[in-house]
Amino acid sequence: MFDYLIVGAGFAGSVIAERLASQSGKKVLICDRRNHIGGNAYDHYNDAGILVHRYGPHIFHTNSRDVFDYLSNFTAWRPYEHRVLASVDGLLLPIPINLDTINKLYGLKLTSFQVEEFFASVAEQKDYIRTSEDVVVSKVGRELYEKFFRNYTRKQWGMDPSELDKSVTARVPTRTNRDDRYFTDTYQAMPLHGFTRMFENMLTHPNIKVMLNVDYREIQKVIPYREIVYTGPVDEFFDYRFGKLPYRSLEFKHETHDKPLFQSAPVINYPNEHAYTRATEFKYLTGQEHLKTSIVYELPQAEGDPYYPVPRPENAEIYKKYKAIADATPNVHFVGRLATYKYYNMDQVVAQALATYAKLSERSTWHPED
Ligand code: FAD
Ligand code: UDP
Repeated sequence: MFDYLIVGAGFAGSVIAERLASQSGKKVLICDRRNHIGGNAYDHYNDAGILVHRYGPHIFHTNSRDVFDYLSNFTAWRPYEHRVLASVDGLLLPIPINLDTINKLYGLKLTSFQVEEFFASVAEQKDYIRTSEDVVVSKVGRELYEKFFRNYTRKQWGMDPSELDKSVTARVPTRTNRDDRYFTDTYQAMPLHGFTRMFENMLTHPNIKVMLNVDYREIQKVIPYREIVYTGPVDEFFDYRFGKLPYRSLEFKHETHDKPLFQSAPVINYPNEHAYTRATEFKYLTGQEHLKTSIVYELPQAEGDPYYPVPRPENAEIYKKYKAIADATPNVHFVGRLATYKYYNMDQVVAQALATYAKLSERSTWHPED
């Protein structure tokens, strides 16, 4: 008898499995319908021997000491601060937009103070910031919005920024200094031997059994368990009874080139050209040295594996209905980006999973027979 059947071996499922097994002595079966652990953070060595992220670039960053300390039990780290360039008007410019972006784009020599005045002069006044368009035009005006954000967002999400919640483009700040880091979090690092190795270390506990290539519905009836932790798409769990929740998908086009260096930055964003949104060169992220180099292009799709919940009011309404029955479903706990329909980064999923574990372990119904 397993205490828990955990559906999905990504961050959400693996963190909970690890905590239940190592801290509460629970017996756990974790399954995934993919042929590997790690969920979307899965990485592996490709045929050329280069460490790549199968589902697009994953860069770890957090302000949470608890999350960083927790994961540090399972990996050493390689310090890494991520940088991104955007291809705009034939130039490669820092994104998030900063002082250098403006000076290079317009051939100016503004100071931080002057660029602040410049933003104030082009910004559109908004009484209320509601959409992903509002966020950007209210900070940097329409021209920069159109060069850097409008088309990237239309490509990535298949809809105009004015149709998306403000939280989407608000992920990318605007700066008046020269800081060209993509993130400013306190902890920024990559797992020294990759994400998959870190997941392996989390799941090696003798109380944890791992089953791959299996949908939980294939084993649910034949394997005895007490409770479920579910980290797949919440609408799928309930057979889409309130309709399909939209998840944006991507096609990943991986390439290996017979030269040591492909591009001038870890990631280059292409807001206005190509069908893909960005190109990532993995060796920057991993620090690996190799005579060849591997890159991935991300091509947004409406159909396919669910990668991004789509933050907009209509979808929040549908999710509310799913959340209500999820909360009312006994012995099933919904955790993670797909199961709680939240555009969460890895660290937020880890924090959510740790909080769920804390709740599970505090329950008065915590199996007294154990
Ligand atoms: P997932 O990783 O999706 O895991 C869920 C697992 O459940 C999957 O493996 C799935 O196969 C399995 N599953 C679903 N249904 C079933 C079923 N019926 N039976 C069995 N198994 C099932 N975050 C960052 O912090 N930094 C980044 O740079 C970053 N980059 C990203 C880039 C891309 C392209 C994407 C898509 C996401 C990125 N993220 C990033 C977000 C990060 O991937 C997620 O926050 C995190 O991986 C979510 O973990 P999870 O366990 O909730 O879900
Ligand atoms: N975005 C954009 N232009 C850019 C970078 C980001 O318009 O050069 C918008 C786009 O809508 C994107 C969102 O900001 O989906 C969040 O960007 P982020 O890089 O955080 O996306 P993720 O890494 O989660 O795909």
